[in-house]
Amino acid sequence: MAPARRPNPEKTAHAVLERMAIHGVPVPVDRIAKDMGATLRYSPLDDELSGMIFVKDGRPIIGINALHHPNRQRFSIAHEIGHLEMHRDLITEKVHVDKEFRIELRALRRDAASALGTDIIEIEANRFAAALLVPDFFIEKALASRRFDIDDDAPIEDLARQLRVSKQMLEYRIRNLPKR
Ligand SMILES: [Zn+2]
Repeated sequence: MAPARRPNPEKTAHAVLERMAIHGVPVPVDRIAKDMGATLRYSPLDDELSGMIFVKDGRPIIGINALHHPNRQRFSIAHEIGHLEMHRDLITEKVHVDKEFRIELRALRRDAASALGTDIIEIEANRFAAALLVPDFFIEKALASRRFDIDDDAPIEDLARQLRVSKQMLEYRIRNLPKR
């Protein structure tokens, strides 16, 4: 079987932001999910569970761990939106469960060793989430003002606060910026 053409997660995230006319941060991921027709459900889950998604009768349902830090919940929502945008056939009538945030963060890296099966869709959803939460327009502005110095913690922390993402997530996004 020939390998299927894969979506470009960064371009897909950019297109979603354009479609929803979002030009500011923090990116309202809950509003994006709702505008896509999804229902968000927050419930207390085991700590290793970050989120889940499935589409039932054409209606997407996103489950989020109510016990997690809000930044982590935002990442989980963005990750699930990525599945909805890019992998809809895989989540229809079949619950997709996401575990272990640390593994997900590692999977954000382009050089991640895993290249088969579900790992590909997780990497794509993570790249989508990073590009959605840290939009191109924001990065370009910050780069223009030379505020991205990976060795200097304070500006990164400040940017992460504005974006309402973890510092770690922002660093991954900066390190994995598409070449231009
Ligand atoms: Zn996933």
